[in-house]
Amino acid sequence: MKKIITIGEIVVEIMAVETGNGFRSAIPLIGPFASGAPAIFIDQAAKLGQPCGIVSTVGNDDFGALNVERLRNDGADVSAIAVHPTAATGSAFVRYRQDGNRDFIFNIKHSACSAIGLTPAAEALVETADHLHIMGSALFSDGIVAAIHEATRRIKAKGGTVSFDPNIRKEMLELPGMREALGHALENTDLFMPSGAEIFLFTKATDEKVAVAELLARGIKAVVIKRGAEGASYFDASGATLAPAFKVEEVDPTGAGDSFGAAFVTCWLRGMAADKALVIANATGARAVGVKGPMEGTSSMAEIEAFLAARNLSGVSS
Ligand code: ATP
Ligand code: MG
Repeated sequence: MKKIITIGEIVVEIMAVETGNGFRSAIPLIGPFASGAPAIFIDQAAKLGQPCGIVSTVGNDDFGALNVERLRNDGADVSAIAVHPTAATGSAFVRYRQDGNRDFIFNIKHSACSAIGLTPAAEALVETADHLHIMGSALFSDGIVAAIHEATRRIKAKGGTVSFDPNIRKEMLELPGMREALGHALENTDLFMPSGAEIFLFTKATDEKVAVAELLARGIKAVVIKRGAEGASYFDASGATLAPAFKVEEVDPTGAGDSFGAAFVTCWLRGMAADKALVIANATGARAVGVKGPMEGTSSMAEIEAFLAARNLSGVSS
């Protein structure tokens, strides 16, 4: 089986129990929860039984230990997670507003995450990889960008593949070097996985179909557009497939895109047809939004199969 790796942030998330605005007074909080988009992605791939690992750095503290234990128990290769001697593990405080928007306080760029790079252990992990997943949210430091460039070069040189989820908040787009780093990722991408309007991040076109055609003409093999409660679409040179989302109650959308992405990449690397892969990825995303906590809703293949069987869709994964 093909081994997937990713490079980027591992953090804890601590969330407000009640909806409201920001953190300017004392409120009940719940957490720490294991988090970080690349970490959620790799945890989901591990739970599906795909060989996988992450290059990251945590602090020498409980927040780090909680994450590393979770990833190890779920089957990910944690050999390239360094432990920083002095800096604390990254963290994110999040509170949902009444209208569904979120307020965040991030401590990532100046946390242990700032030290992520190609250590000897990371180089050894890259050596074992067949596929690199690039998460746009991870491109916040020069060290990570350089590590991703080098891993891309090495993995592509031996015939491996790259997937890319821009996963970028507008506020991050204008960070120095961000546009260049995103552009470099796109140039090397085989499978591009934007959500909604992110499809237009790199195109002249403002019409979706034309934008997809533009991307495929640049050498990207396939594009998957995530559409939240509307499901997802797949495009390649031979056409397009749309798969509607499953109807579930959305408890916490954080992590759905990362879980969806890991499920799709795993199925794609296993050579599964795109329509089936979309159904499995939609089921994975639907299960993720039904659970509070960014990584708490990741699924094993048995859980996905049970979810599908309950909707008369047995046998999709075989
Ligand atoms: P993230 O906030 O994690 O970055 P994203 O924008 O990358 O999310 P979404 O499109 O929100 O990704 O969600 C990914 C997938 O999860 C969707 O394509 C869909 O399959 C599933 N999903 C998301 N929201 C819902 C929902 N409300 N109901 C059912 N399925 C959902
Ligand atoms: Mg996303």
